[in-house]
Amino acid sequence: MTVSPGESEVRTDLSARLFERAEAVTPGGVNSPVRAFGSVGGTPRFVKSASGYTLVDVDDNRYVDLVCSWGPMILGHAHPTVVDAVQRAASSGLSFGAPAEGEVLLAEEIVSRVAPVEQVRLVNSGTEATMSAVRLARGVTGRPKILKFAGCYHGHVDALLADAGSGLATFGLPTSPGVTGAQAEDTIVVPYNDLAAVEAAFAANDGEIACVVTEAAAGNMGAVPPLPGFNAGLRDITAKHGALLIMDEVMTGFRVSAAGWYGLDPVQADLFTFGKVMSGGLPAAAFGGRADVMSQLAPSGPVYQAGTLSGNPVAVAAGLATLRAADASVYAALDRHAATLSHLVSDALTGAGVTHHVQTAGNLFTVFFTDGPVTNYAEAKAAQTWRFAPFFQELLSHGVYAPPSAFEAWFVSAALDDDAFSIIADALPHAARAAAAARGPEDAK
Ligand SMILES: *Cc1c(COP(=O)(O)O)cnc(C)c1O
Repeated sequence: MTVSPGESEVRTDLSARLFERAEAVTPGGVNSPVRAFGSVGGTPRFVKSASGYTLVDVDDNRYVDLVCSWGPMILGHAHPTVVDAVQRAASSGLSFGAPAEGEVLLAEEIVSRVAPVEQVRLVNSGTEATMSAVRLARGVTGRPKILKFAGCYHGHVDALLADAGSGLATFGLPTSPGVTGAQAEDTIVVPYNDLAAVEAAFAANDGEIACVVTEAAAGNMGAVPPLPGFNAGLRDITAKHGALLIMDEVMTGFRVSAAGWYGLDPVQADLFTFGKVMSGGLPAAAFGGRADVMSQLAPSGPVYQAGTLSGNPVAVAAGLATLRAADASVYAALDRHAATLSHLVSDALTGAGVTHHVQTAGNLFTVFFTDGPVTNYAEAKAAQTWRFAPFFQELLSHGVYAPPSAFEAWFVSAALDDDAFSIIADALPHAARAAAAARGPEDAK
């Protein structure tokens, strides 16, 4: 067992040098914003390899990984069964641009797990899945507007960036330049967990709203579960007004249960979106739902959607192998590990006298530096997020890789074991003390 180094001994020279080179040739040095450590500071670690629960960076530091590629790696990294499936698929050809058996098997696996999903279309990212689902909803209803919730993130689709979570929350951005006024105007944003606001929006936009899109359980403003009856309420309201309900399960799908959030809170949405776990770490995602809606897609219907690499055989093999290996024992392990970890985090913070609330949504969890439950984005932003950076840095320097943002869920894998938890348990008191010592804006007065 490698002893995790204390802060002073952590060497990050090679990561720092790579980051410098990356900044010259890649905007901000990274290919997805939160990876740059912008809100936590310090050197983003360049990863050399990963196996089980361990990430190894280019300076040979080892970390217990609690990000899991932002969700996909539920079995742990480089799981032998998945790697074997990928190698076998790769040696049979990397891409065909013609249908292949694996796509049928993966679609059948998804359809068999999530009852309301009768047909699926494979795409390459969660962004593409939600973008396509929204187009389909507009095409089917003939209506222009969509309704989303503040703090929910559905990928970087123009129309869905308004008041979005994830990186926009991390960097405090209301939306993005480059999104036109027309696109923003067709997007109605209301507070999460507020059914009255949804009712009011439908009343004010009678006959114009094509769909409500929601994270099945919000995970991109930190883990914020729907209040009891919220998702069911969305179903009732959308049905009453002839709009579609799109349940975005890109994060929760096949992670919080075999059937995703649907397995915990079975609300019959019209369309679902999936990504992350379903592709086992390779680029693939999907959207699916009622056959009468899905069949409106080209080539069986008029709503156009396509992809050169969609259903890529190597990505499909990784996804299928991951889902087939994700049996009841894996989901039990994820739940157990999330519970263990959230108790360890909470105990350490309590020990250091830090006000906090560990909030869960299935086996997703987030520690909010506030004293009560967080039900929406305004409450998430009102927490003492300035305690997060020092907390994160101490975890990192003691060998624990947590999400580098106060607004992200933590992701466990089934690969965590007693050794992993002892590294985490040793790191946490340092992190909790750093969180306690942090000084916020009000202390500067
Ligand atoms: C990650 C995520 C997306 C976007 O998926 P990408 O593959 O990053 O494009 C969409 N919706 C939710 C809920 C997500 O968590």
